[in-house]
Amino acid sequence: MSNTSTIITRADCEKLDQQDPLAVLREEFDLPAGVIYLDGNSLGARPKAALQRAQEVITREWGTDLIKSWNTAGWFDMPSTLGNQLAPLIGAEANEVVVTDTTSINLFKAIAAALQLQSGDSKRKTIITERSNFPTDIYMAEGITRWLDRGYQIVLIDTPEELPTVINDSTALVMLTHVNYRTGYLHDMAAVTALAHQHGALILWDLAHSAGAVPVALNAAKADFAVGCTYKYLNGGPGAPAFIWVPAHHQAVFHHPLSGWWGHANPFAMSPGFTPTPGIRRALCGTQPITSLAMVACGLDTFGKTDMQAIRKKSLALTDLFINLVESRCASHPLELVTPRNHQQRGSQASFRHPHAYAVIQALIQRGIIGDYREPAIMRFGFTPLYTRFIDVWDAAEGLRDILDSKDYDANAERHAVT
Ligand SMILES: *Cc1c(COP(=O)(O)O)cnc(C)c1O
Repeated sequence: MSNTSTIITRADCEKLDQQDPLAVLREEFDLPAGVIYLDGNSLGARPKAALQRAQEVITREWGTDLIKSWNTAGWFDMPSTLGNQLAPLIGAEANEVVVTDTTSINLFKAIAAALQLQSGDSKRKTIITERSNFPTDIYMAEGITRWLDRGYQIVLIDTPEELPTVINDSTALVMLTHVNYRTGYLHDMAAVTALAHQHGALILWDLAHSAGAVPVALNAAKADFAVGCTYKYLNGGPGAPAFIWVPAHHQAVFHHPLSGWWGHANPFAMSPGFTPTPGIRRALCGTQPITSLAMVACGLDTFGKTDMQAIRKKSLALTDLFINLVESRCASHPLELVTPRNHQQRGSQASFRHPHAYAVIQALIQRGIIGDYREPAIMRFGFTPLYTRFIDVWDAAEGLRDILDSKDYDANAERHAVT
C-alpha cells in the first residue's frame, strides 16, 4: 500500500480482507448493519459476549447469589484479575496493574505519588506535559498542584522536540500521553523515559490511545507509572473503569492521598488506621462498579486470540490505505493530514484538518460513516484492527470524497454537546 501511484480499487480491498488473518475476529463484535465504525478510539464496539456476561452478572451473581458473589464470583479480586489479563498488552508483569476508577482519578493518584517521591528534592518544581495533551490530564495536574500550594509549575510544551530542552534538574515529573488523542502522534516511550531519568525526573505515561492499539513495553522502557482507558481500543463498554500500572519496584513507595479501604492491607479488619496493602492493590480506593468492570473481561478476551504485533501490522496497513485513498481521491479539497506519515510516530488513527471539519463529520455520520470531530477543525478516524475491514476504509474514503465533491454538508451545522 505504500506505492501511492498505484490505483487501489474496492476489489483490491476485498482481496486484502480475504487475506487478513484478523478478519475472523470481526465475528466477535456486534456491529450495527450499515455502519462503518471509525470511532473505536473513543468508544469501542460491543463484544457479542458482553450481553450474556451482563445477564449473568445481573441475574445470577447479583440476583441469586447476592452478597456471596464478592467471594464466589470473583468480584473482590476483579480489579487485579483484569489487571493481570491486561498486563501483557502493555508490557507489564502480573500484579502490576489494577483496573479501577477513571483515567482522571488514576492520573491524580499517580501524579500525587510521583510528587511525593520527589518531595525530598526541593528544586524539583515542574511538571512537564504537552499543550496538546488530552485536557483532563492537564486539568488533573492543575488541580493537584493548586491544592498542594507548594510552588509546583506546569510547563506546557508545543512540540515533542522541545523535550530535551525543557527537561532538567528542576523537573519533578514528565507526564505524557503516549499517542496523542487528536493527531495520533506516537512518542518513543523508551527514549523519552531515558531522557527523563537522565535528569532525575519521573515519568507518567497515559496509554488511553495506546492500550490495544499499539504495542507497549512499559517495563522494557523502564517507565515509572502509567494509566489508561478500557472503553476505547479495549472495548470494555461506555464508562468502563480505567487502569493504573505501578511497576513492582515502585509499589512499596507508591503513596497517594485517596487512601480508601480497598487499598488497605486488611480491609475487613475494619481498623481505624490506614495501612496500605504491600502490592498494586494500594492503588485502589473504594468499592468498584462490578457490572461495568465485568464487561472489561469480554473486551480483553478478544485480545487473547491474537497479539499486538499482528494488530499493529493491520493497523498500519489500514491507516496507510486511508491516508492514500483520501489524499489521492480528495486531492482538490483543502485537507491537511495532521497524523505523522512515519510509522514509528503513528498511532492507530488518521486525522485531517478541513475548514468545515465539523459539518463534514456530521454529513459522514448521516451516511453511517462514524468518525468524530476534535477542536480545532480536525476530523478524526480511528482504525481498530479487530473489527475494521479494508473495504470499510475504501467505503469511508469514498463517502468523504462524495461529500466534499458535492458539498453535501451544512457548513452552519449546530454543535452537539458531545462531538
Ligand atoms: C480519553 C482520555 C481520557 C479520559 O479520561 P476519563 O477520566 O476516563 O474521562 C484521559 N486522558 C486521555 C489522554 C484520553 O485520551
